[in-house]
Amino acid sequence: MSANSQLEPDLVVNNARLVATMDQGLGEVENGWVSIRDGLVAAVGTGQAPAAARTLSAEGGLVTPGLINAHHHLFQNLTRAYPPMTNAPLFGWLETLYPLWGAALDEEAVHVSAWVGLAELALSGCTTSSDHLYLHPRGRGDLITAEIEAATDIGMRFHPTHGSMSLSKKDGGLPPDSVVRNEDEILAESERLVGLHHNRDFGAMTRLALAPCSPFTVSPQLMTATAELAERLDVRLHTHLAENAEDDEYSMATFGKRCVDFFEDVGWMTDRSWVAHCVRPNPEEIARLGKAGVGVAHCPSSNLILSSGIAPVVDLRAAGSPVGLGVDGSSSADSASVWQEARLAMLLGKLCNGADAMSARAALEMATIGGAACLGREGELGVLRPGAVADLAVWKMDGPAFAGVGPDMVEGLLRCGPVGAHHTIVNGTAVVEAGQIVSPRLDEMLKSHNVISRRFQPV
Ligand SMILES: [Zn+2]
Repeated sequence: MSANSQLEPDLVVNNARLVATMDQGLGEVENGWVSIRDGLVAAVGTGQAPAAARTLSAEGGLVTPGLINAHHHLFQNLTRAYPPMTNAPLFGWLETLYPLWGAALDEEAVHVSAWVGLAELALSGCTTSSDHLYLHPRGRGDLITAEIEAATDIGMRFHPTHGSMSLSKKDGGLPPDSVVRNEDEILAESERLVGLHHNRDFGAMTRLALAPCSPFTVSPQLMTATAELAERLDVRLHTHLAENAEDDEYSMATFGKRCVDFFEDVGWMTDRSWVAHCVRPNPEEIARLGKAGVGVAHCPSSNLILSSGIAPVVDLRAAGSPVGLGVDGSSSADSASVWQEARLAMLLGKLCNGADAMSARAALEMATIGGAACLGREGELGVLRPGAVADLAVWKMDGPAFAGVGPDMVEGLLRCGPVGAHHTIVNGTAVVEAGQIVSPRLDEMLKSHNVISRRFQPV
């Protein structure tokens, strides 16, 4: 019990059949409750819960730390299930969509798509999301600030990354000229945005990272300069790495080396980095990534839809890499449920490495403490213990889909379903209550999203 627990909590979540704290010391608490004060967990206990200014019932269900989404492109929910590209692998899919995104992306589109995308994530029990926003067409305003305002409005903890693309088709890259930026401009804008938005305090709601999009959209010089800038500003680094066979082939043809060797040569083989996908590393590369502590955001739905492959996350975890989960962009996944990615990660881990290689607990670990480690916030997010942030998901686990689940509610959560969160609490405040978004703005935002998405996908 912390000293804080002597004061009346702001909120108590009570009546849980089980609280899975993901904390090694506290473990799983039966007949549990969690008390919250000043945005932090004050105490976790069993039996009679303390009195509080407000209570929320877990209704005999399971309480877990809020899930963490370690990779996303929120704006892509404006081009979901885009008809010409529903059956293409990565490069063709990107080349078709770049011009559509480049033509219509602006502050309003980013704000509304981020708001709606974060609402969707909150409904899946997610409390913290990253976003990789790599398209910044000239003259469309400050898109990172527009998405941060959306996260602040809905109440989600947010880790946007300033994505960049500088290598257009005429220079040997993949994107068209209209969506790339000059490299000096990218670095200056990165520094400006970190100064404006990056909060280093414990419990911060907004932190920024730097994120050149991929080796096939920026120059090696920008990768190196970004790593140096991140070191100087003390912020994290994010990019796509070794996503599929085309990615490998591009790296061999352009740089004469494999993706992981390129990544190391440009100064990114460090525990400051976390990467999306990492489907293609060989055993020797897995050992190097693990030894360096490079984080990996495993995005199983996207990897399956784009037929990229299955990331070797059991081996990456064993080698020492923190592995989190990512829903990836909503034009390639196209659903954004961290619960669903956790279930898929469990299923694919069993398929690739054996039935005992990926339990529901291991998948839940990736969705919570693994994601926290990717974002550089181990011990602060993704765990329920006194002093950690008060980010919780409450899973009611009733009805036909969960009938018959016995004492092992953690296995039940990921083996049964589908399910959305009953309550999602961020920083001690409910963003989802009784399965519904709390903000009164949902309908208004969905209407705007509908209008804006037609600008991207004219019919
Ligand atoms: Zn991605």
